[in-house]
Amino acid sequence: MIWNPGAETLSRKELTALQLERLRTTLQWASERIAFYREALAAARVTPESIRSLDDLQRIPFTVKAHLREHYPFGLFAVPLAQVSRIHASSGTRGKPTVVGYTKNDLQVWREVMARSLAAAGAEPGQLIQIAYGYGLFTGGLGFHDAAEYMGLTVVPASSGNTLRQIMLLQDFRPQGLACTPSFALHIGESMREQGVDASTLGLRYGLFGAEPWTEELRHKIEAVLFLTAVDFYGLSEIIGPGVAVECAEVRSGLHINEDHFLPEIVDTAGKALPPGTEGELVLTTLTKEALPAFRYRTGDVTSLNPEPCKCGRTTVRMARIKGRTDDMLIIKGVNVYPSQVEAALLAVEDLAPHYQLVVDRTHGFPNLEVHVEPAERVAQRWGRFDPTHPEVAALRHKVGDRLRAALALNPEIVIEAPRTIPRSEGKAVRVIERK
Ligand SMILES: [Zn+2]
Repeated sequence: MIWNPGAETLSRKELTALQLERLRTTLQWASERIAFYREALAAARVTPESIRSLDDLQRIPFTVKAHLREHYPFGLFAVPLAQVSRIHASSGTRGKPTVVGYTKNDLQVWREVMARSLAAAGAEPGQLIQIAYGYGLFTGGLGFHDAAEYMGLTVVPASSGNTLRQIMLLQDFRPQGLACTPSFALHIGESMREQGVDASTLGLRYGLFGAEPWTEELRHKIEAVLFLTAVDFYGLSEIIGPGVAVECAEVRSGLHINEDHFLPEIVDTAGKALPPGTEGELVLTTLTKEALPAFRYRTGDVTSLNPEPCKCGRTTVRMARIKGRTDDMLIIKGVNVYPSQVEAALLAVEDLAPHYQLVVDRTHGFPNLEVHVEPAERVAQRWGRFDPTHPEVAALRHKVGDRLRAALALNPEIVIEAPRTIPRSEGKAVRVIERK
């Protein structure tokens, strides 16, 4: 279902005109109210009137995460705190969190773009949705919650964690939808299987999975244990939270960006704009945000844009599944690789469980990569008691090594762990461990 055909099926000409008008309005709004943007735009000689077409966007300076940190907590807000209805923040694992604010109107925009996302995944008013994202300062839980209520769904606010209770709720309440991280979805599905719960008899029809990079291979694994249509979505708190882009359940080839609210670009590491279809860093400009507008925000997420209209009827540009973050790329013996590429290669090995951890060892100067994996359940059962010196374990190790060499030209150390020793995720999965 297309939630808002008026906005999601505009012609390119209509959309471009709307984006230009909203960009100028946001420039005016921000330069009148936020000293940081007033100075940055003046230094670049950008005025709203000087932006004549979207090509002029490139004259506007970039915004980066450090700018938000420097103005912690509220220094980039365009309105007095009394007009801010809600505050969210990043986890701040590397220092102070990044703080974001929403006016009443911003919250309405968020509901709208999230309702579009829910509808694109298959949600219909009158149905139930179980939200297994964390509630609190993190935008996942409340972002889904607010929009689901707004569009007429019945919300089960389960929050993250507590796998056994999640399973009980899925069995007893029978929601059609599930929203959580893909790694948690897999864990819920596998736990059900272990308990002998037949997931195909639940009422689940679709899942909205995101907030961490994942792959097509993981999608297949999740769908095989949960018997639903797994849909990818994208968002970040600095722009709005979830709701920036979503796959349509019909086609699932790229995520439709809500372009009437967020203007996307792709740039290279030097910040030079790249043509459609080229892979690079996603840069987003907010077109309607009041409390915390952002111009050319460098997301750090690596993707590409596809402007071709989609068979689902939406005309909005589609971004490819996120490959990783620019700062997550590993350089191992001269090979550049994203953890998601390793995931894709590993999950294609039939005899492995879909769980892995990458250990990057920097104790000897050059980074060294260890890939930790487990045998699949049926393989482990055939083996009986786990013995790391058994020839079959060595054979599996060679098989994984061959696969990584063939797919990625990587030659890491492979560690076959005992079944169920790699930590399972009840939220964001920890895929990479640094050993320093
Ligand atoms: Zn589509």
